[in-house]
Amino acid sequence: MVDDMLLLIISSPSGAGKTTLTRDLLTHFGDLTFSVSHTTRKPRANEIDGNDYHFIDRARFDQLVSAEAFLEWAEVHGNFYGTALSELERARADHKKGLVFDIDYQGARQIKVVRPDAVSVFVLPPSMDALKSRLRSRASDDEATIDRRFRNARAEIGHYGIFDYIVVNDELEEAKLRMRSIVYAERSRRSRMARTAEQLLRQSHKLD
Ligand code: 5GP
Repeated sequence: MVDDMLLLIISSPSGAGKTTLTRDLLTHFGDLTFSVSHTTRKPRANEIDGNDYHFIDRARFDQLVSAEAFLEWAEVHGNFYGTALSELERARADHKKGLVFDIDYQGARQIKVVRPDAVSVFVLPPSMDALKSRLRSRASDDEATIDRRFRNARAEIGHYGIFDYIVVNDELEEAKLRMRSIVYAERSRRSRMARTAEQLLRQSHKLD
């Protein structure tokens, strides 16, 4: 099914700079909105409930799974994460033209099954060394967490094949431009522009 709403999935191994790139897109395109996931992970110091995530416990998460409230959900790094279907409705109610998902490859795969029109982008670090130092510079995580995320990164990168686009976050400003270009290009797809073309045709008939 293709509707007017652009579903933009952004995935990456932790530390590749996906959050910065996602924020830039949301600032640049005022008609995109961020899909706020539910998670059983504990909030980090700077995170706001309802803004970064909906922080819930495992029992509530299981309830939402049973109630089929999620568009997708997965276990990532030992915690549970899910995208509520209500995020799509919220975006529509707010008259947004696109929804940005910061989710892992498992979630990307699930969304693609039910919404093949969704666009997925995989953000990669320029090197594994760069990834390690970016993970270290994130003071909020302890050494064991950093190590686990680094080990998981290799497995995650192995799933690059399911994504439509790959953006290497080497030079940040250039990576931002590449991300923006993907949105511009996807919005220009014939399937998303058919309504506009049909409107022009109707106008031209009226002028006959
Ligand atoms: P973090 O705990 O660092 O915020 O996120 C860890 C990983 O979980 C990231 O790769 C992030 O993209 C992913 N993630 C966040 N929300 C969701 C979600 O709703 N579904 C899935 N499948 N992954 C998510």
